[in-house]
Amino acid sequence: MKGISDHLEIKNCQVIEISDLCGCAVEKPDEIRKLFNGSDDFLIIACYPRSVSLLLGKCGIEIKSLNLNYINFRELNNIQIFKEIDTFLESEEGSRKPDYLSYNNEWPSWFPIIDNSRCNSCGQCSDFCLFGVYEKIDNKVVVVNPKGCKYNCPACARICPQIAIIFPKYEHSGAIAGSETFDELAEQRRQNSDIDTILGTNIYKALEMRKAKRQSIIRSTAMQQAIVEREKALAEKNPNQ
Ligand code: SF4
Ligand code: SF4
Repeated sequence: MKGISDHLEIKNCQVIEISDLCGCAVEKPDEIRKLFNGSDDFLIIACYPRSVSLLLGKCGIEIKSLNLNYINFRELNNIQIFKEIDTFLESEEGSRKPDYLSYNNEWPSWFPIIDNSRCNSCGQCSDFCLFGVYEKIDNKVVVVNPKGCKYNCPACARICPQIAIIFPKYEHSGAIAGSETFDELAEQRRQNSDIDTILGTNIYKALEMRKAKRQSIIRSTAMQQAIVEREKALAEKNPNQ
C-alpha cells in the first residue's frame, strides 16, 4: 500500500486508513461505523468489494445509503489503481485530513463471513465446524465466534453448497476470497470434489460425527474450565497449601 499512500498524499485528498478491516470489523465495529457516518462519496481501496461490503454490513453500516466506489487491489496493479483514483478525484475537492484506525493484535483476524444473499440456512457449516464459530439462530446461520476460527482453515467455505462463505484473507482468488465474478459451474464442480475429499460419500453421517465430536470438545473444555475454577477456589480457601 506504500505506493498508493504516496499517491494519495500527492493528491492532497482526505484519507481514512484502516490497518485491517477484518480485525476492526470484529474489534471496533462502532468506530468503523462512525467513519462512514455522513453523505460523502467514498472510494474504498481494498480487496474484493463483495468482502468489503459484507464486512461493513457486519459493522451495522447501511451500504445502500452510501455512495461507495471500490478499487480492488487484488486484481489491479498500481498504475491502474492510480488511474482510478485520479478519475474519482476529478469530481472531488478537499484537503487531506488523515484519519487512521488501526488494529494491532495477536489475532490474525481470520474468520468467515456469510453472504446472506446466497445462504439458504442449510446449517452444514455449523454442523461441520468443530469450534463453535457458527450458530443457528431463528433459522438463520450466523458467525457468533469469529475468534474460534482456526487460522488458514477455509474448510467450511469449501463445502458450503451455496458458495456463500467468504474468507476475505484467503490467499487464492475466486469465490472463497470474495470475488463477485466467478464461474458458478466450475465452483460447483470444485465444491463437489471438496465435499468428497473432506466429508467422503456419506455427507450426513460425516456431519453427524463432526457434530458429536464438537459436543465432546465443548464438554471437555467445560470440564477443564470447571477443574481450573475448582482449583482456584480451593487455593483461595487454603492459601497456605
Ligand atoms: S453451509 Fe453455506 S448455505 Fe449452508 S448455512 Fe452455511 S453458509 Fe449458508
Ligand atoms: S474455517 Fe474451519 S474453524 Fe473456521 S469456521 Fe470454518 S470449519 Fe470452523
